[in-house]
Amino acid sequence: MLDLAIVGGGPAGASAAVYARRFEMKTALLFREPGGLISTAHLVENWPGIPSISGFELGEKLLKHARGVGAEEIFAEVSAIEKEAGGTFLLRAAGGKEIRARAVLLASGTFPRKLGVPGEAELLGKGVSYCATCDGPFFKGKRVAVIGGSDSCCNEAEFLADLAEKVFLIYRREELRAEPANRARVEKNPKIEMILSATPRAILGKEKVEGFRFERAGKEEDLKVDGVFVAIGREPMTGLLDGVEVEFSERGEVLVDEKKMTKTPGLFAAGDVVPGIKQAIIAAASGVEAVFGAREWLRKSN
Ligand code: NAP
Repeated sequence: MLDLAIVGGGPAGASAAVYARRFEMKTALLFREPGGLISTAHLVENWPGIPSISGFELGEKLLKHARGVGAEEIFAEVSAIEKEAGGTFLLRAAGGKEIRARAVLLASGTFPRKLGVPGEAELLGKGVSYCATCDGPFFKGKRVAVIGGSDSCCNEAEFLADLAEKVFLIYRREELRAEPANRARVEKNPKIEMILSATPRAILGKEKVEGFRFERAGKEEDLKVDGVFVAIGREPMTGLLDGVEVEFSERGEVLVDEKKMTKTPGLFAAGDVVPGIKQAIIAAASGVEAVFGAREWLRKSN
């Protein structure tokens, strides 16, 4: 029986694990992929104290720290969290694995939002991707489209421009709404061409991606590309909460009180899965806040 089971191995989960161990809680981090979303970032230049580091390395360092202070790591895709009659939690994971804990911290983050156009699901892994750092190297010297209009799509486009022959950044409005610094870098990159006021219509191709169809000024246009990177935001990962009582925001994020506790006593949530600014450093801090909440709750419920 764990004191605290942390679902998620990103900045929120790993930071929470470090603090939980300082409070001598028997702690485990459960995750499917180590490091969370930050580990897919090409370069992180806004983590205080480290002027520049690859996202992958930062993710690794955070987990190494947690491991070093005694947090157990369990590779498990948690599919359900249930509250048992005695008040403890049962976490069900793939392969029939069961983990029990007195308190749970959900730091499961987000998953990529889908574009919802024909061809997207059919061509997934055949030229359709949601992660440039993961799949970009397959598109060396090729033509790719990046769909979106905010900071993620700028980062994806910039990363891909180092590999691809040509990157088309396709946005449905007249002007990108990314941070000025991100926008400026994209605008002055000679390999990136912006196609604005263009609404996505379809991803084309049979065996693999061959093109992208969008609508501009009332007319449909087909662009020849080998890959389509969708970067239109993310959705909170909450499918595992069906068995517990939790409230959600309009955007589907898990609502928590000032101690980061959900409506279910003993179930805490932090990081990108709760409302707030989506930044790794904020996720880390909210994970720590949740541990303070969990510690207080565990003491009271002893
Ligand atoms: P986001 O800010 O939610 O932006 C999503 C973009 O995709 C928007 O421009 C949106 O268009 C577009 N979009 C959504 N659905 C679409 C559809 N069906 N078809 C076409 N376009 C669609 O997502 P994000 O870029 O992932 O950023 C999330 C948060 O993380 C933001 O707060 C961002 O600032 C932050 N972030 C920061 C950095 C950084 O470098 N500091 C990097 C990554 C993320 P509309 O504009 O028309 O709504």
